[in-house]
Amino acid sequence: MDIRAQISTVFHLDKCIGCHTCSIACKNIWTDRRGTEYMWWNNVETKPGAGYPKKWEDQNKYKGGFKTVKNGDKIILRSNGRLTTLTTSIFGNRHLPTIDDYYEPWTYKYEDLFNSPASDDQPTARPISLITGKYMDINYGPNWDDDLGGSEEYARKDINLEGLTEHEKSQLNEIERLVFFYLPRICNHCLNPGCVASCPQGAIYKRGEDGIVLVSQEKCRAWRMCVTGCPYKKVYFNWGSGKSEKCILCFPRLETGQAPACFHSCVGRIRYLGVLLYDADEILNVAKTPENELVEAHRSLIKDPFDPDIIKACKTNRISPEFLEAAQNSPVYKYVKKWQIALPLHPEFRTLPTLFYVPPLLPIIGKNNNGIYDVVGAEEKGNLVHFSTQEKARIPIKFMANMFTAGNEEIIKDVYEKLIAVRHYRLSVTTEGRISKSELEEFLERGKTDAREANDIFYLASKPTYEERFVIPPLNRERSIE
Ligand code: SF4
Ligand code: SF4
Repeated sequence: MDIRAQISTVFHLDKCIGCHTCSIACKNIWTDRRGTEYMWWNNVETKPGAGYPKKWEDQNKYKGGFKTVKNGDKIILRSNGRLTTLTTSIFGNRHLPTIDDYYEPWTYKYEDLFNSPASDDQPTARPISLITGKYMDINYGPNWDDDLGGSEEYARKDINLEGLTEHEKSQLNEIERLVFFYLPRICNHCLNPGCVASCPQGAIYKRGEDGIVLVSQEKCRAWRMCVTGCPYKKVYFNWGSGKSEKCILCFPRLETGQAPACFHSCVGRIRYLGVLLYDADEILNVAKTPENELVEAHRSLIKDPFDPDIIKACKTNRISPEFLEAAQNSPVYKYVKKWQIALPLHPEFRTLPTLFYVPPLLPIIGKNNNGIYDVVGAEEKGNLVHFSTQEKARIPIKFMANMFTAGNEEIIKDVYEKLIAVRHYRLSVTTEGRISKSELEEFLERGKTDAREANDIFYLASKPTYEERFVIPPLNRERSIE
């Protein structure tokens, strides 16, 4: 057993309002320099949609992450390993997103608004490329499909529609059911990072004491294999400095006890940060688990911070008592391991992300069905409209399973049953008589939960204090394990 500590995160997607404040907070601090114009270390996508860079989830195109070989006995980088990379791709990396896949960054010629001569027409500020300095037509951007996820034009480009029946796909395009949700993305600071594994220079590393993944600006030699190796496309190449750059989880802020800027500024308060303890000896076996079992294996990698054996192993590995205490109070541990309602994004990429998402339940909507009032995303029982994501889900379960459980529909259904149970538990508290005791019992049983746990989930999702959302241990950089 080799117990390590990892600063980990949870995003609660039902709470994201798509305001992009997080992206702007990050941009203003870290990527407002020459060469970084097109970079959004934090970006917010609309799902279904193509995302940024365009269709980043399609590993047939980008060759990111790992795949199993030899009947599942071994995992290798989808883009080949360091040696093959050096020998076959030395004169060029064939699997990089182009600037058009990201977008050509631009500004506007604002001075025209002030300096234009008097005229019958209102002056306009034309877009100018931040790369060429010339006038340009804008045809893509980091949030290009914002709010249009459910529409045919954008939804059909989403790779997660794979495996959906024609009926399910047509449901997404039905105008009354049009639906979308937001997916904020940062680097996942993975336990098995594809970026680290693919760098021939050894320039990317995972910090010993907290697991933050960083690029050494001294060592980077512009191979850009990390850009390919990361299946989430969260390493970017700075064309000005000739070095790769990525989200640093605002480590200078964390080291002074402050939450990262995108977490601190999040308007929907969807973000949680805390410590997870995991067994590094198990990483390889977990990473090569069969797809259907990947989520369960990932959960098993995370260890109980109250278990005496784990506490002992922490001492052996010089994990400080403050770190251990932070792991015991971690909101991430509760969401991921205790309640099991937060899931990794695309576990099939096998990088073992440490950012987890609570999938969105989405509101129900009413529609007129041949003159009869109908509800979408719900089922009716007596005079009660129940949230249901099984048969009448606004987004098909298969789509969510493709995103969060490597296609395993049972796991995503279990998560939804619990989230539905929490909503009904609250309904029973706030609306007297709307839901009978036996009905509530039925929902709790289906969600494999009880009133106490439902209340805890409700509390952390809706009313946590700053200190409960962000449990940041002293990082003890001076005592770090490199
Ligand atoms: Fe590396 Fe981050 Fe990509 Fe994971 S998400 S492979 S840590 S850049
Ligand atoms: Fe969503 Fe928060 Fe970002 Fe707004 S700031 S888009 S609520 S993650």
